[in-house]
Amino acid sequence: MNKKTIGSWVQSANTDTCDFPIENLPYGCFHELRDASSQKKIGIAIGDCILPLTNLSQHMAIPEPLKEGFCLLDQQQMNSFMALPASFQEKMRRFLMSLLAQNSSHKEKLSPLLIQQAEVKMHLPCQIPDFTDFYAGIYHATNVGQMLRPDQPLAPNYQWIPVAYHGRSSSIIPSGENIKRPIGQTRAGEGKPPYFQASRRLDYELELGVFIGQPNRQGHPIEMQDAEEHFFGMCLLNDWSARDIQGWEAVPLGPFLAKNFATSISPWIVTRQALDPFRKPWQRNEIDPQPLAYLESESNRASGAIEIQLEVYLLTSQMKEKNLPAQHIVSSEFSKAAYWSIAQLITHHTSNGCNLNAGDLLGTGTLSGSTAQEAGSLLELSRGGKEPIELSNGEKRSFLEDGDTVIFKAYCETEGQVRIGFGECQTLIVS
Ligand code: CA
Repeated sequence: MNKKTIGSWVQSANTDTCDFPIENLPYGCFHELRDASSQKKIGIAIGDCILPLTNLSQHMAIPEPLKEGFCLLDQQQMNSFMALPASFQEKMRRFLMSLLAQNSSHKEKLSPLLIQQAEVKMHLPCQIPDFTDFYAGIYHATNVGQMLRPDQPLAPNYQWIPVAYHGRSSSIIPSGENIKRPIGQTRAGEGKPPYFQASRRLDYELELGVFIGQPNRQGHPIEMQDAEEHFFGMCLLNDWSARDIQGWEAVPLGPFLAKNFATSISPWIVTRQALDPFRKPWQRNEIDPQPLAYLESESNRASGAIEIQLEVYLLTSQMKEKNLPAQHIVSSEFSKAAYWSIAQLITHHTSNGCNLNAGDLLGTGTLSGSTAQEAGSLLELSRGGKEPIELSNGEKRSFLEDGDTVIFKAYCETEGQVRIGFGECQTLIVS
């Protein structure tokens, strides 16, 4: 066990490889499988268990400053809880850590309340009012730009504006739910007539999601020095993309049916407070344009970036039949891949007066690394479908087949800190 951990009386939380040690405590929404009629509850992950927070006040005394927050967790959605200020969230975190710490006096009372994660179904963590997908992964933007505009891969605005489009929240699903291969309009090539069929170029995009906590009022932009106050936490995000539909429909207004049929997210929100030990200075290459003043702050320069390791795995139906494990495809790292920080995404989004609500989700954009082997989509890995990748069992993939399961994982690990993980974002493609 890492020496720095305070340790938990939940023994499974104390192993080196555990995603959910006491230093993490991400929030999620679940119901218990043994009771189909059971209501949705809010809880935190600890080791391989969940401590339900909904109705916790019936089992123990809640300190006065936290009572309002626990009341809000008795609802079936935690959006109102997420809207509470960051100062409250920090107090809440300290209290939850004190309940689960090795030496806690609450062990006897709380251990009968723990539920095994294997015995629940996870839902979306909160209601997601709006979803915006950014394009902050500069290597992805460059790789894709190279296919479309070899002479000028990055559009002139890219280094000045965190570009994005408004996505669709109705089709966001939690890890574990299948997606159906979308049908749509495409064409075989320039000058050829369009047709309507199941997508043949179905792809994933490796992204992180950012959940908004405290909202801002319409007409009141969030300034850089306040942006982190509105950042509640993060999850993994898979922005499913039908490349054949995208190529034909996206001119001139951008993503539509090629993207909005499904977006998968991991079910646990890793809080901003849990991510704080993994912060780094945010840097902009000296030869690049420096951000305009409204996207600059001292604290962003000092600690605006977060080091998060990302991994993609693929499990095909053939691998499943032969009991082979999912194959690791690529790894990349958030702070190296992202051209803009989370604070910059939040500030830019509201800079025109646009209001963000508690539970709104911002996608970072595909987080490809700087080398071809670290690409966060099959479009990049197979060079537009021209060079299929070969899997270790001999199968090849340019794009995804029915029966493929795409699995994203993420974790934070740095010298002197306890490793924390995001869990998984896992989705099976069916016809
Ligand atoms: Ca995307």
